Amino acid sequence: MSDCIFCKITNKEIPSHIVYEDEYTLAFLDITPANKGHTLVIPKHHHVNILDAPEETLKQVIITVKKIAVALSKYADGVSIVQSNKRAAGQEVDHLHFHVIPRTVNDGHKFWKGKPYKNGVAEKVAEKIKTLL
Ligand code: 5GP
Ligand code: ZN
Repeated sequence: MSDCIFCKITNKEIPSHIVYEDEYTLAFLDITPANKGHTLVIPKHHHVNILDAPEETLKQVIITVKKIAVALSKYADGVSIVQSNKRAAGQEVDHLHFHVIPRTVNDGHKFWKGKPYKNGVAEKVAEKIKTLL
């Protein structure tokens, strides 16, 4: 898509620090990393997010995500993989991407705070999701 920043990175119209590229996917450094080495993995073909991407594309992308995660795990204590869909989830760039983030034991990142279900609610929520699949 012509006005998509990640399509422009794919087409080398704007610079980025590419760490891996194959026929279907691209991996490059996030411009504002959570930690050094924070990498974005995208399909070369434009899809907005995981909701509109074909399964075949997702297979290709997740293979590259794993490749990057294995590389980062060679110097990090752990690796987080984050993927957001739509504004409410924090998606800012509308080209499917996975964040692959090297983690250290005390880096202080906590992506969300969980709270337990009240009695009987988990069963209802699980039933609702099952009806939507
Ligand atoms: P989102 O919030 O959509 O999940 O993540 C978008 C990510 O893209 C952000 O972490 C942001 O730093 C990164 N980003 C936005 N514009 C650019 C850019 O022009 N180049 C690179 N390398 N990363 C970008
Ligand atoms: Zn795009």
